[in-house]
Amino acid sequence: MKLLFLSESDRAEIWRPVLQRLAPELEFVQWPDVPDPAAIDFAAVWKYPPGELKRYPNLKLVSSLGAGIDHIVGDPDFPAHVPFVRLTDPTLTAGMIEYALYGVLRHHRQMRAYAAYQREGRWKPLPAPATASCRVGVAGTGEIGGAIAQAVKGLGFDVAGWSRTGRGPEGLRMYAGDSGWIPFLGRCDVLICVLPLTAATRGLLNARAFAAMPKGSAVINIARGGHVVDADLVAALDSGHLDYALLDVTSPEPLPPGHAFWAHEKVELTPHIASLTNAETAAPQIVDNIRSYLAGRPLRNLVDRTQGY
Ligand code: NDP
Repeated sequence: MKLLFLSESDRAEIWRPVLQRLAPELEFVQWPDVPDPAAIDFAAVWKYPPGELKRYPNLKLVSSLGAGIDHIVGDPDFPAHVPFVRLTDPTLTAGMIEYALYGVLRHHRQMRAYAAYQREGRWKPLPAPATASCRVGVAGTGEIGGAIAQAVKGLGFDVAGWSRTGRGPEGLRMYAGDSGWIPFLGRCDVLICVLPLTAATRGLLNARAFAAMPKGSAVINIARGGHVVDADLVAALDSGHLDYALLDVTSPEPLPPGHAFWAHEKVELTPHIASLTNAETAAPQIVDNIRSYLAGRPLRNLVDRTQGY
């Protein structure tokens, strides 16, 4: 059995020894050096040239090497008959939680104001906000968003979630679907976006959404840049309606020079580093899914391509 590692990144040298140790029965074939495309049974993929998967007529299962799969679902030439599984990874989730907590605490504890006071040489205490009265909303309460919601709630914040179906961690107040969106935003002093990028979620963080949020609120986007309408975010920050945006993702990446986010005093920008998939903790799931496929067992984290996640 042959497993194709198909990625334009240089991560093959990290994944190869881990996958080979876990599944010695699989022969690791590193793209683009594929002498016999018909011999490929499985593929583990990350950013690759669209259409590439068409070249492998006997492909049985495709695994993503990461959690965000919009670029793969968006490949019009993805072979429709081949099942596609995405990845969940406890190490990746832990990094996402850390990043989200940083943003929530930075806003809630007014650290940007204190940083400005320090630069001005001012010693100026501000009224201390109560944790339980700070309302945090997590848009997308799946694998990662659900864990973030629980971690933020664990610190005593007033947390709610929003998802398409209303599914979320047990005990979390949930809002669902289109009708729940604006009521959900109305109680977001901090909004954390952890949605997959799909046709339904692209551009969701727009002027209408920002206007529905309370004055002085903050937006943390750790999902995809395509969720945000950049000009609307800048306008909401400039008008004083929003106070802070922490953005790990942008569209495009990297942002072009001169883009308004680079120098905006209310925007904090990081280069898509909120978290990374860890081969050691993620690879077992790829191998388990291949073995499940071969044994006719259900696959874990099967992507619903009609929904796009
Ligand atoms: P999951 O598939 O586990 O969860 C997706 C969540 O989004 C679910 O709660 C789902 O709702 C909800 N959702 C999907 N579509 C809609 C919609 N139209 N309206 C409302 N809710 C919707 O994904 P993960 O938690 O694993 O990952 C989320 C995203 O995080 C990834 O797609 C990726 O883009 C991003 N990411 C970013 C990283 C970074 O470093 N910045 C690293 C890793 C991931 P329901 O359950 O009701 O169907």
